[in-house]
Amino acid sequence: MKLLFKYSFIFVCVLFLSSCASAPLKPPLGAIGQAIPPLDMSMPRQDVIHIVGPGETLWRISKMYDVNIDEVIKANRLESATKITMGQELLIPNAAPIRPVIPLYETDKWKYIIIHHSATDQGNAFSLYQLHLRRGFWNGLGYQFIIDNGTFGKGDGQIEISPRWIKQQDGAHCRAAGMNEQGIGICLVGNFSKEQVSEKQMESLVYLVDMLRKHYNIPKDRIMGHGQVPGAATECPGLRFPWEEFWSRLNSKE
Ligand SMILES: [Zn+2]
Repeated sequence: MKLLFKYSFIFVCVLFLSSCASAPLKPPLGAIGQAIPPLDMSMPRQDVIHIVGPGETLWRISKMYDVNIDEVIKANRLESATKITMGQELLIPNAAPIRPVIPLYETDKWKYIIIHHSATDQGNAFSLYQLHLRRGFWNGLGYQFIIDNGTFGKGDGQIEISPRWIKQQDGAHCRAAGMNEQGIGICLVGNFSKEQVSEKQMESLVYLVDMLRKHYNIPKDRIMGHGQVPGAATECPGLRFPWEEFWSRLNSKE
């Protein structure tokens, strides 16, 4: 019955598409939607200070806090919505608890998900961006996603999106086995050879990996740590990374 429904649905779509053949084609790299988790209504709204991360737009920031973009422009006396810069502090009035707003693209580029740690106690997308620029990585921040650990003004478990994801560019996170070209690089801030992954970081990691693997049809045996990539000689994401916990949580999602 379910299958029948699926095929009927596809049939209807085909009919619909063929009936409007003159409609403009969708650009291949435009975002086709966003993944946004539901608002946590149990938490109060409050004024917060947001530090603008690499590649963030006011539009996405206002969605992240469920506020009106004009309110943010007014509260910060911005000239326009485009006049924000990386590292700038913005007052977000009456903000809901922050949630990730992740654009999703129509592409068959992504075939693997590679998990990293920053190997630093502290950090955020902005600090890693600067670090990678100093190391000479083209385009700064080498990963597609960062999961913060509550340092450098970011929330514990906060998901930050790198400009490489927005632009759908190759990563600079794992040269082995061609993973820069076909692997989505997710970096958790912390050094998991010494420290624990926080509960909120694990929650966010499982949410992000589950959402990406479903959207891009990535099989579970193509989800791995940096050190598990053939040819990569590294202990990243750390000797104490809780793989058992990660897999049991990911497997409990359907
Ligand atoms: Zn790594």
